[in-house]
Amino acid sequence: MAVEYITLPYPSDALDPVITKNTIEYHYGKHLKAYVDKANELIKGTEFENSSLEEIVLKSTGPLFNNAGQVLNHNLYFLQFAAQKGGKPTGKLAQAIDDAFGSFEKFTQEFEAAGLGLFGSGWVFLAQDKDGKLSLEKGQNAENPITKGMKTILVIDVWEHAYYLDYQNKRADYLKQVWDLIDWDVAEKRFE
Ligand code: MN
Repeated sequence: MAVEYITLPYPSDALDPVITKNTIEYHYGKHLKAYVDKANELIKGTEFENSSLEEIVLKSTGPLFNNAGQVLNHNLYFLQFAAQKGGKPTGKLAQAIDDAFGSFEKFTQEFEAAGLGLFGSGWVFLAQDKDGKLSLEKGQNAENPITKGMKTILVIDVWEHAYYLDYQNKRADYLKQVWDLIDWDVAEKRFE
């Protein structure tokens, strides 16, 4: 099975001005497309030709891991957004966030601090372990909590290509604004 290039469930200008059409056209249109193409090129003739994307990330190393990990992370990232969403989680996820972080406000503060504190290129995840407990996880480059036996509930890309066209060097502003785009229904579904 080939590594799929996802279709966005929204038009490229839907997330404006938090993530602009310009950024979507580069980030989704060029960066993600390149990771998908490279991963497909690298699985040709290998044991991974018929593997799922998750299996590839769990079992591969080197360039294939880097490209497949980037595809997985970007799929989770782009598919959790919707125009004019934001707000707060409700239901079981809201309770689990309160249990793990004290409150939703403390969670967003800790998440933004983790994103700001990540040196270089990487990702910040809200992840769930096998017992259902939530924690913040950081990943360098193409890492994903799946390799630690955890599931991603929410993820923010802090590679410069994710925000530089819109925010230049102001990563803190991007991390603050991006909450306005989170579709918590998607996060709730990942959590259940
Ligand atoms: Mn990216």
